[in-house]
Amino acid sequence: MELANGSRVAILGGGPAGSFTACFMLDLARRLSLQLEVDIYEPRGFYQCGPVGCNMCGGIISESLVQNLATEGLHLSPNMVLETINTYTLHTDYGSVDIGTPLEEMRIAAIFRGGGPRGAENQKPLPWDGFDWFMLQKAVQQGARHLPHRVAEIHRDGDGKPRLLMKNEGVRVYDLLVGAPGINNPASLRLFENMDFGYQPPKMMKAFIAEWYMGAEDVQERLGHVMHIFLLHLPGLMFAALTPKGPYATLVILGEGADEELANRLCRTPQMQALLPPNWQIPVQPCQCQPHIYIGAAKNPFGDRVVMVGDAGVSRLYKDGIGAAFRTAKACANTALTRGVAKEHFQRHYWPACQEMERDNLLGHGLFKVDGLLGWWPLFRHALLGVVRWEQNHPFSQRHLSRALWNTFTGSAAYTDILLDLLHPTTMGRFCWEVVKQAIPGSRSS
Ligand SMILES: Cc1cc2nc3c(=O)[nH]c(=O)nc-3n(C[C@H](O)[C@H](O)[C@H](O)COP(=O)(O)OP(=O)(O)OC[C@H]3O[C@@H](n4cnc5c(N)ncnc54)[C@H](O)[C@@H]3O)c2cc1C
Repeated sequence: MELANGSRVAILGGGPAGSFTACFMLDLARRLSLQLEVDIYEPRGFYQCGPVGCNMCGGIISESLVQNLATEGLHLSPNMVLETINTYTLHTDYGSVDIGTPLEEMRIAAIFRGGGPRGAENQKPLPWDGFDWFMLQKAVQQGARHLPHRVAEIHRDGDGKPRLLMKNEGVRVYDLLVGAPGINNPASLRLFENMDFGYQPPKMMKAFIAEWYMGAEDVQERLGHVMHIFLLHLPGLMFAALTPKGPYATLVILGEGADEELANRLCRTPQMQALLPPNWQIPVQPCQCQPHIYIGAAKNPFGDRVVMVGDAGVSRLYKDGIGAAFRTAKACANTALTRGVAKEHFQRHYWPACQEMERDNLLGHGLFKVDGLLGWWPLFRHALLGVVRWEQNHPFSQRHLSRALWNTFTGSAAYTDILLDLLHPTTMGRFCWEVVKQAIPGSRSS
């Protein structure tokens, strides 16, 4: 079961995973002198402002992804990057600490996925480019066809080839179907569950995102080029992040209680109040949503002539979902074009790339569990802050805990590397010393 000259590939979903897959397939096809027809089905107008144009995300592009994109000749335009983040500030109930980029060249980019927050359409032309539209256009420039339709049904024809049905748009048959519907459209996931390859969607958790308008000056003055992370004892909160983006600040909340109510409570905390402009109020109708975030791999994400990429297959835990989409898209394109499109081809050549990420996610689950348990213990947080503060006076190469925290929130490294930094003898030794220091009455620093 192989792709040949004239083969047709359907990609269901034109988010990052779908567009990356199209780009990689068409690029490889050209190098193999293979004529391939690639159709991307994507009904969303990514150039539109507000939820209609947006694939609901914090919009952080890790530096590893910026580099990977550049290697593929995909350079983010200056209009797209609204902020270059070079510092994290960690806010806890016991104090705050700044974590500078662990290497001078490390920076992360903050972007909008769609046209921008609701209400931004009043600014014409829009002063920024959205990431998903940029990527979809790149795929079209490479030769993909963008069909602005929602796929309503999937069947197989007599030869076992996927047949896609669109409302009022007829039926098309393909040699390969790449599923990239993300995890925020249950009906689309059901299309694949109802097929014959035993697919079960990934595990997911509720999240909350809001775009708060503050004005560019206030954002620069109050937030700077800094991403603010909140590890606070608020019921239902795992962690929250406030990222500057032009005239907006993007608030992302993870945790089982992630909703508007929790955002309001977070907004009233002294840590958040210290950052917001005086008398600033949450806008009456902010652009906000409650998307799902990936927390565990899909079961059987491939079969004969069908393969799932991006969030709908395997992604990374709590971070760098776009980077994970890049990786699965690459592995999928390489497998389909150089090995074949049967289930056993994907099992042998695509699945290992997914498994590597999923194994690393297991470590991530462990790390977050430990933090969830110990984070309520004041001594633990005090000692953590103490180590990070101490590290800021040392060379980059010796800032193991700072690097671990930076990589946890940016998604720039695997959880395995993060664990190695956490377990580094210097980190552990200093941590124990901070615990002892904090435990001695009268010696606790604020
Ligand atoms: C709160 C939150 C914050 C996040 N922050 C970040 C971050 O800062 N950085 C990061 O890298 N990742 C982040 N992520 C993860 C990131 O959003 C996802 O990993 C990424 O969007 C996955 O890309 P995808 O292409 O698989 O799916 P999606 O981006 O969801 O795209 C799926 C596409 O498929 C289309 N589609 C669905 N059904 C159909 C159909 N039937 N027919 C045709 N088209 C269809 C949809 O319209 C959509 O455009 C975050 C996620 C959440 C929830």
